[in-house]
Amino acid sequence: MLTENTPVFNSYSKYIRETFGERVQKISINTGYSCPNRDGSKGLGGCTYCNINSIKPEYANAKKSVTEQLSEGIDFFSKKYKAQKYLAYFQSYTNTYHNNDVLIKTYEEALNVPNIVGLVIGTRPDCITPEIADYLQEVSKTKYVSIELGIESTNEETLQKINRCHTYQETIAAVEMLASKNILVGGHLILGFPWENREGIILHAKNVSKLPLKFLKIHHLQILKSTQLARDYEANKDEFKLLTLPEYLDIIVEFLENLRSDIVVQRFLSESPKDLLIAPHWDGVKNYEFTSRVEKKMKEMKTWQGRLVDEKG
Ligand code: SF4
Repeated sequence: MLTENTPVFNSYSKYIRETFGERVQKISINTGYSCPNRDGSKGLGGCTYCNINSIKPEYANAKKSVTEQLSEGIDFFSKKYKAQKYLAYFQSYTNTYHNNDVLIKTYEEALNVPNIVGLVIGTRPDCITPEIADYLQEVSKTKYVSIELGIESTNEETLQKINRCHTYQETIAAVEMLASKNILVGGHLILGFPWENREGIILHAKNVSKLPLKFLKIHHLQILKSTQLARDYEANKDEFKLLTLPEYLDIIVEFLENLRSDIVVQRFLSESPKDLLIAPHWDGVKNYEFTSRVEKKMKEMKTWQGRLVDEKG
């Protein structure tokens, strides 16, 4: 039975506390690796929504070594929080897109920095080889390892429209391959493409619930400067309908009801820098504020993550 204190969704902060026994801070690293969707091997110009400058904290500068970036990040966060443990977060671009020797050297460098307890590696589903997965499986026996895959959509037509240059079928194969090696796998999804209706958005929850995913990061669609999406938006604002904040809140509640209850939800909102954001503005609401609204609404509705999955068995 749902009580006042029952968590209505499976949160990442709770997962981290249960896994490590304390707060653990991710430190973003920029390796400067490109991605096959920018260097021409799969596509040029990148995904239509991507402005790579939106996900780089100041200390994550590819001109600095991995050790320097991590040390500066640790220095920054140790003044802000009491965290003693840190995860090296390979966030920008495609962090398994290089030859194996370089990749392994980079990951080892990160693991050798004091107080780094593991790796979180962001990449594309079509850029993770079984060899690197084998290496990460070995690492995961002594350190924390998780892979974050840019799923972005489970709809093949959307993936084409946003120029991802990979398919959802490739996502399924990558998640299954990694999970078969006992590597924790997370996925990113973007919700709110103007051509996807509510039913289509909820279908993403049902689809990813069939995958052996451990984590999910949800982002609302943001139109960022210097992207193809921005050009499309400016050219056709009237038809390019973006979700309002109340609409998104409603959708997230239904999305969670249709999401497998053991999937850990890492976030609900994108928080791109103001100077890059064209729309929507939503009064600058932060992820933690939105999370509180989700919890409040779900409690009021007496519902919870996975309710509609569990009911169907
Ligand atoms: S979102 Fe990722 S894969 Fe797409 S262009 Fe940007 S860095 Fe490349």
